Amino acid sequence: MSSLLVHDISTLLTMDTPQGVGALGERTDAAVVVEDGRVVWIGDTASAPSCDVRHSADGMVVMPGLVDCHTHLAWAGSRADEFRARLNGENYTDILKRGGGILSTVRATRDASEPALTDLVETRLRAALGRGVTTLEVKSGYGLSAEHELKQLRAAKAAAERVGVRIFTTFLGAHTVPAEFRADRPAYVDDVINNQLPAILDDADFIDAYVDDGAFTVAEGRRILSAGAALGLGVRVHAEQVTKTGAARMAASLGALSADHLERIDAEDAAALAAAGTVAVLLPGAMLYLGDAPPPVPLLRSAGVKIAVATDTNPGSSPFPDLWGAATLAVLTMGLTVEEALLGITANAATALGRPDLGRIQVGCPADILLVRPPAGEPPGAAQLVQHFGAPSLALTLIGGASF
Ligand SMILES: [Zn+2]
Repeated sequence: MSSLLVHDISTLLTMDTPQGVGALGERTDAAVVVEDGRVVWIGDTASAPSCDVRHSADGMVVMPGLVDCHTHLAWAGSRADEFRARLNGENYTDILKRGGGILSTVRATRDASEPALTDLVETRLRAALGRGVTTLEVKSGYGLSAEHELKQLRAAKAAAERVGVRIFTTFLGAHTVPAEFRADRPAYVDDVINNQLPAILDDADFIDAYVDDGAFTVAEGRRILSAGAALGLGVRVHAEQVTKTGAARMAASLGALSADHLERIDAEDAAALAAAGTVAVLLPGAMLYLGDAPPPVPLLRSAGVKIAVATDTNPGSSPFPDLWGAATLAVLTMGLTVEEALLGITANAATALGRPDLGRIQVGCPADILLVRPPAGEPPGAAQLVQHFGAPSLALTLIGGASF
């Protein structure tokens, strides 16, 4: 079995904060040994063991592969006309009334064949990998029927297989009520639970629900999520984005892995999330595109809630695929520190996916590792990676020890 030594690492950010030095587990002049897809040794370059292959990271930052823990990137169609209409002053309610918005993405995604959808997802995953994202979560939610939700999840998994990134899939049948059920919401909730959920069970890791004004109520969300949890799916919730509904506390009561958005939480919500170990996933792309206010980060911080940052990549409210950019936006618009932003796109994002062995460089964990060149003229430090918008360029990307 061949072994790889990455040596003379100017700055190693392990994100292994309990055992590391400093908030990001920093080390200088470090070395990492990878064998059989895993990290097997971390230490000083001077005491590194000999390996079959050597790679110098002099002048670079070495850190875990990025984890984008909230995306909707299995879609077809375009919302560019809607974007233009909104820039010209048309409001989203009027756009919805003339059949635009999310329902237009549902029509286009239903019309796309599984191979065509797979190709689209593949293109998006390759772009993410090119920016150092080695693990992604992908939601369904533009099919809204057993057949088309399954098609989305299968397309996402097949595309990830081609590209080589790690993927986690989330069933989001409770994204919105499709046109054919608009007159009978209870019948749609029944369809999600009784028809869609059994159909997608083998192809999803998690279940999610969009609980908000105009989407699903807390009671509907609880029914749907509980049904998924009873069948073994981890729970995630789109919560407290547009209106305060009680979704965050419902997420905590279900032991959800993550509650996402959270623009409208209060201190009690934050305390409930902390007690449940539910990760707060913040989505600055959606906040930016919707012109929304930031979530109350100080409440999350003082309650001790783990914070992750994700792109929410989707064709309407967050056509924003760059996780580095999301980290920078989270610092600028939400008040996260550099350390919170970097943990948010690595270790805490992996925890939000129920995989605390990812998003860290730790002995025994999968070797998903980036060698990052700092922006030109900058020393290899953590702050520069967030300060310069979209700046890092990659010298090497490893997933499970294999280079991409
Ligand atoms: Zn979302």
